[in-house]
Amino acid sequence: MTTPTPEEQAAVDAAIEDVTLGVSSPTGAEPGEGTVQVLVRVPAGSRDRWKAAAEAKGTTLSEFVRSCCDEQAEKLLDCQHPIAHRKMFPWAEICKACGKRLWENPRTPHRGPGRV
Ligand SMILES: [Zn+2]
Repeated sequence: MTTPTPEEQAAVDAAIEDVTLGVSSPTGAEPGEGTVQVLVRVPAGSRDRWKAAAEAKGTTLSEFVRSCCDEQAEKLLDCQHPIAHRKMFPWAEICKACGKRLWENPRTPHRGPGRV
């Protein structure tokens, strides 16, 4: 690994400062118990582009990074309940891939003989 130029290091430091999860925000993680800090080394161009995207979305770079990562983690780790795997009953809809009950009619019994 090569030593970054002062300009590159300044850009990395600025990016690190902005993506520090300790930055206070209404939906973000507050520093303290239950939070961790994630430092990511990114090209300066990426950092500027992400910041512009965050500003276009009306949010901070920190919140933008958090929401993008959360979205990707959810897609990769959690069942997306694909339509092909959903089973519809008059009283409920079940995802056969993960077994989750996606919704149920509160006015019909949801457990009984022959029912899931
Ligand atoms: Zn599912």
